[in-house]
Amino acid sequence: MTTGAKQEEEGAGRSVVDYLRISITDRCNLRCIYCMPAEGVSSLSHREVLTYEELETFTRAAVSSGIGRVRVTGGEPLVRKGAVGFVRMLTSIDPRQKISLTTNGLLLARYAGDLKEAGLRRVNVSIDSLDPERYRGITRVGDLTGALTGLRAAIDAGLGPVKVNVVMLRGVNDDPGPFAGLTRELPVHVRFIEYMPYFNDPGRWFISGEEIKGRLERVVPLEEGDAPEGWGPAGTSSCFTFPGAVGTIGFISPVSCHFCSSCNRLRISADGRMRTCLFDRNGVDVKREIRAGADAGRLREIIEHELARKAREGDHKPAPGARVRAGDHMSRIGG
Ligand code: SAM
Repeated sequence: MTTGAKQEEEGAGRSVVDYLRISITDRCNLRCIYCMPAEGVSSLSHREVLTYEELETFTRAAVSSGIGRVRVTGGEPLVRKGAVGFVRMLTSIDPRQKISLTTNGLLLARYAGDLKEAGLRRVNVSIDSLDPERYRGITRVGDLTGALTGLRAAIDAGLGPVKVNVVMLRGVNDDPGPFAGLTRELPVHVRFIEYMPYFNDPGRWFISGEEIKGRLERVVPLEEGDAPEGWGPAGTSSCFTFPGAVGTIGFISPVSCHFCSSCNRLRISADGRMRTCLFDRNGVDVKREIRAGADAGRLREIIEHELARKAREGDHKPAPGARVRAGDHMSRIGG
């Protein structure tokens, strides 16, 4: 029986896990107010972070367990030295692998061409406001011009469909109008992602995808459109267009539309913890296994055991007021 078939049998009706998110660093060149406390988070030491070779070993095992799509994330993945070479390593595992990257775009102007040449297929750029001052306010230190230059470099390098991830915070950046303007100007797919209030803030920032859509409909007449590849978890995402737009607009609603049953994700954090759910408190310490000499077969066994458990156990919906473990900020898990 194939791994996918096995997963389906174990968890009837649940999505097959075929998507791996690899966080290659916990370090970031931004300090987004909803992602990190003002003082930042303590960085992992060099030794604590998986080497690229260790990540490759893990990814090979994951691919042999049915993973067909890999996303490189962080922290900010492009601040880790050798990120382009790592994309090349991933490509060499299986050229059919669809490798993508999530970045804040600030270093994309420098790396977009090389990333494309290394085999990267697609890129998501996180830009939460198109107003330079508000962008600076949210990121605490960021320069919007740098992010937009990076976005254009990704389009020019052919890393499409380029998606723009926008996390809206009520009372901070909750006007979607300027992003409609962006889809008139550039062939990008803007996705409004609901803020998940599980990390820093008790919830006053939360605004639903439905409410954002309502605000947008007062500005442009949205029509249902076809979602580009890799759009978002089934059941939580929708995609729209409007006359005059060259891009699309969509909504990813992980809080309003509970999506455990369609979750197809496996994650590995920079410190080598594998999670089958964003809310796994500890995950499995695969770094320890790798450093103790686990071979591909043993890693595959561990991965398949966890995937079978995910399929069996079903819903992990976080309880109201749920928090991830202190220190496990998104910057470490990778979003
Ligand atoms: N540095 C990269 C970037 O900016 O995209 C990759 C890492 S970042 C943690 C990945 C994504 O997680 C970003 O799009 C970010 O906006 C999102 N994110 C972080 N904290 C979040 C939260 N509490 N709710 C929803 N999305 C969040």
